Amino acid sequence: MLVSTTIKESRRIIEAWRSEGLTIGFVPTMGYLHDGHKSLIERARLENDKVVVSIFVNPIQFGPNEDLTTYPRDLERDRQICEAAGVDLIFAPSVTEMYPEKNLVYIDALILGDRLCGAKREGHFRGVCTVVAKLFNIITPERAYFGEKDAQQLAIIEQMTKDLNFDVQIVPCPIVREPDGLAMSSRNTYLSTGERQAALILSKALSVAKNLINAGERNAKVIYQKIEEVIKTEALARIDYIEIVDAKLLQPVTIIDQPVLVAIAVFIGKTRLIDNFFLREVSSR
Ligand code: AMP
Repeated sequence: MLVSTTIKESRRIIEAWRSEGLTIGFVPTMGYLHDGHKSLIERARLENDKVVVSIFVNPIQFGPNEDLTTYPRDLERDRQICEAAGVDLIFAPSVTEMYPEKNLVYIDALILGDRLCGAKREGHFRGVCTVVAKLFNIITPERAYFGEKDAQQLAIIEQMTKDLNFDVQIVPCPIVREPDGLAMSSRNTYLSTGERQAALILSKALSVAKNLINAGERNAKVIYQKIEEVIKTEALARIDYIEIVDAKLLQPVTIIDQPVLVAIAVFIGKTRLIDNFFLREVSSR
C-alpha cells in the first residue's frame, strides 16, 4: 500500500495505473476509520482494480464553533485499517497542500443545501462540494463511494456530479450500525459511557417512525411529532432538527406519497449526531 501526502505524487501514481488500463475506486474520508468506512472500501475493492482512500479533515466544511480542532485523528491506525482492507493508495494531504491559499472559487449546492444540516451548518456543503470536486480532479476515479449515513451529502454530490459533468459514478452505500443500532461515526468517540447509551435514542426514534409509516401513517406531521416525543424521553438529548423531505430535492413534504428521507440531528451532550432512513417505495394507504 502506498501513502502519499502530495497531489503531484498521487497524480504520478494514478497516471501509471491509467497507462496500464486499470480502473480506480475512490473513498473520500476524514479518517479515524471505522466499519462504516470499511464497508465503502470493501465495495470499492470488489468493483475496481485499484482503491484510493483520502484522509483529510477538510477545514472549510467546519463552522467557527464546530469541532475542527478536536476531530479525532490517527493516521497510523487508519493506515493499518486500510492496509488490512486491501487499499492501494492513501492520499493524506496537509491543509496547505489542499489550500495553499484561500480559494477564490467554491462550488455551492443551492436548494439541496438549504435545509437539514445545510441550515444548521452554514457553509458546510460549500466546503464539502469544493473539497470533493478537488479530490475528484486529483484522483480521477471511475467510481466514488459515499455512505447514506450522510444522506444530504450524498444527494448533493450526486447532483454536483451530474450538473458539472464529472466523469465518475457515485455509488451509495448503506448505513453501518453498531449491534445496538447506533450509526457508526468517528464522532461517537466523543461520547461518555452515559452519552453512548443515550445516543441510542436516535435509531430508536427512527425505527418508531419507520414502523408508523409501514403501518400506513402518511401524515408527515404525525411522524414528526412521534420522533420528537421519543427523543424528548432522553434527558441528555437536544433536538437540532427533525426533517421529512422528498428524497430528490430534499424539500419538506406534508403527505408521504413519494420517496422520502427522514433525517434527524440530535445533540447528545455536546456531541452532534445524525441519523436517517430513506423510504424508497411508498404504497398508497
Ligand atoms: P467521514 O469520514 O465521516 O467524512 O465519512 C466518509 C464517508 O464514510 C462518507 O461517505 C460517509 O457517509 C461514510 N460513512 C460514515 N459513517 C458511515 C456509516 N456508519 N455507514 C456507512 N457509511 C458511513
